[in-house]
Amino acid sequence: MNLLTVKDLHASYGAIKVLHGVNVEVSKGGATAVLGANGAGKTTLLRAICGMITRSGTIELDGQPIDKLDTAEIARRGVAHVPQGRGTFTTLTAEENLRLGAYTRRKSPKLQQDFELVYSYFPRLYERRNQQAGTLSGGEQQMLAVGRALMLEPKLLVLDEPSFGLAPRIVQEIFGIMRKINREQHVSVLVVEQNANLALDFADRACVLETGVVVTSGSPEDMRQNEDVRRAYLGY
Ligand code: ATP
Repeated sequence: MNLLTVKDLHASYGAIKVLHGVNVEVSKGGATAVLGANGAGKTTLLRAICGMITRSGTIELDGQPIDKLDTAEIARRGVAHVPQGRGTFTTLTAEENLRLGAYTRRKSPKLQQDFELVYSYFPRLYERRNQQAGTLSGGEQQMLAVGRALMLEPKLLVLDEPSFGLAPRIVQEIFGIMRKINREQHVSVLVVEQNANLALDFADRACVLETGVVVTSGSPEDMRQNEDVRRAYLGY
């Protein structure tokens, strides 16, 4: 059963067409990785799903169409986007950033519990909760971005290159936590990732995007056995 089903998605920036009929699926409780070279349209795919750019095609979340909704409503339906560059508010504290993540449900009686949940996954954020986000390390800022997304109580986390610019050890740590969140909280994940090995270890489905078209999709095993994918993205 799919949580997210994207069919024949087209997207453009003004006259520049970037996606040409993309199909992507994320199963309920699952994780899908999107691989692809620079400029393939991966970020654009995530933006199109989140309603941030002009798009056409069908996008269903839990069986409901979301392709005509605006970004705020898509977030309210449970899609939390962690953009490339993390999008943290640098002059606010870590805790204020988390609070903003829960803005749409700021009156929820569960808020305190959610802070505790985020801090249990990211104890480092608890230690740094009163520190300005801009002074956190890159890894801590990525943790904060994921933590803030969790404060939305999402059904689907949409992550754009979470490993970008981070040391391998920190990347492993963050993906380890992501895996726990995926399994324990049943939050599904759609992740764009340049580090294909890491992405295939994490996900249960994957696809390769090239110049706005999905050229291959399947299980991580299928991807690893595909010679073109191996050569282009896995480096062996
Ligand atoms: P990267 O890994 O480098 O981030 P990507 O696969 O995420 O690449 P996109 O950022 O989606 O690729 O870009 C796909 C294409 O769309 C590129 O040719 C890019 O130049 C173009 N593009 C991206 N953003 C805009 C924009 N705001 N206006 C016009 N063209 C854009």
